[in-house]
Amino acid sequence: MDVKDRILIVEDDRSIRNFFRTILEANRYDVTLAENGQEGYSLITSLCPDLVILDLGLPDLDGMEILRRVREWSSLPVVVISARSHERDKVEALDLGADDYITKPFGTPEMLARIRAAIRHSRLPLQTGGGRSGTFAAKGLLIDYDKHRAYIGGQDIGLTQNEFKLVGLLGKYAGKVLTYDFLIREIWGPNMENNNRILRVNMANIRRKMEKNPAQPEYIFTEIGVGYRMVEPDEERSEQ
Ligand code: CA
Repeated sequence: MDVKDRILIVEDDRSIRNFFRTILEANRYDVTLAENGQEGYSLITSLCPDLVILDLGLPDLDGMEILRRVREWSSLPVVVISARSHERDKVEALDLGADDYITKPFGTPEMLARIRAAIRHSRLPLQTGGGRSGTFAAKGLLIDYDKHRAYIGGQDIGLTQNEFKLVGLLGKYAGKVLTYDFLIREIWGPNMENNNRILRVNMANIRRKMEKNPAQPEYIFTEIGVGYRMVEPDEERSEQ
């Protein structure tokens, strides 16, 4: 990889800006900084970065407003910065088309994983519903989309049809948080929205089949108040 991915950071807090710049430059990203919303939005339009890290609390323009404007014409990956406890903000940003969020205080490996996943997803060919064929592999888990089965260490774990749909969907967006509403809509349709119980029950069954210790999952993580996230896939097999 010789061409560096360009990341634009829109953040009014100088120490946070510099923190991101240091970490991201050390990880071979090309970094541009904006310290307010106007500057940020104008750089998004002129620079066409590979990813934007967007603070929601900016002095001049609301981060949500920037996201809304960007999504009118672009699907470029946007990761928002959110306070840890603000679940509603996170869900709202995801609903508005943010790809992910990172919360303060930032853990470096986690932040880099979010950025990698968001850039990776922006480069996947467009998928049409559940028609994907192929496989997903992570830490001994294998999802076989053609056979509609999932295996751990080569053993079929016996998912039901809906359980497989859930696992398959999380695998398709691995590394990225999927909201409760999104998952429910995709699996059970619009009439079941807000019925988180059906999702929780299915997830509990999946974890019993999949995780050694369902209370400490290795594959599917809970993002409290927001949704679920599948572990990132094993190192990718070159370009495909
Ligand atoms: Ca701020």
